[in-house]
Amino acid sequence: MNQLLTKLFVKIVCPQVSIRISDDEINCYDSDLERIYFNPNDTEDCGFLRHLREVHNYPQADRYSLTIWTLLHEIGHYNTLDDCDDDEEDLDVRLVFAALDTTDVAHDERAQDLYFNLQAEWEATEWAIAYLDNHKLLCSFFSFLLR
Ligand SMILES: [Zn+2]
Repeated sequence: MNQLLTKLFVKIVCPQVSIRISDDEINCYDSDLERIYFNPNDTEDCGFLRHLREVHNYPQADRYSLTIWTLLHEIGHYNTLDDCDDDEEDLDVRLVFAALDTTDVAHDERAQDLYFNLQAEWEATEWAIAYLDNHKLLCSFFSFLLR
């Protein structure tokens, strides 16, 4: 992953958010340098593109790179934070995984959808879709650069 281009994209989309990229994680921070969300620094698609196509009814999801989707989703968390209760979200996540008795989300579509359907996840994804629909050229360009 090109760190400079990735950071540039995030700054263009949302100047209040900064990211740090390590070998195994992408961490997103707000302006107080408090970590808001993180994602594995992994190009493997853990079902997110499928979820976008099938559950969010967004068939053109594959036109954009997974990196762009991931970054927009994380920035979406920053922009929808007020709508969701963090403690409630943590509890929901634990309940989902307890009920499923799995942590192998990468290969379990039911687990993926339960997780991505959690309120905070859903709203972050909807934010990402709306941003992308309004900035198709920018997102296509960076998708090409970061693919
Ligand atoms: Zn998320």
